[in-house]
Amino acid sequence: MDSKLLEILVCPLCKGPLVYHKDDRELICKADHLAFPIRDGIPVMLEEEARRLTEGERQA
Ligand SMILES: [Zn+2]
Repeated sequence: MDSKLLEILVCPLCKGPLVYHKDDRELICKADHLAFPIRDGIPVMLEEEARRLTEGERQA
């Protein structure tokens, strides 16, 4: 994914930074424990589309 695009992306909820997980194609907000999917290279920055992080993922 475009690194410049990544730099401008923030969490839609807390406006905090997101961590790009390349293998899972997800953008993680550690503050909200949400993972936003990237579909066809387009980040889906919608809370209702986001996945809740599991307990194990929160620890990592
Ligand atoms: Zn957030």
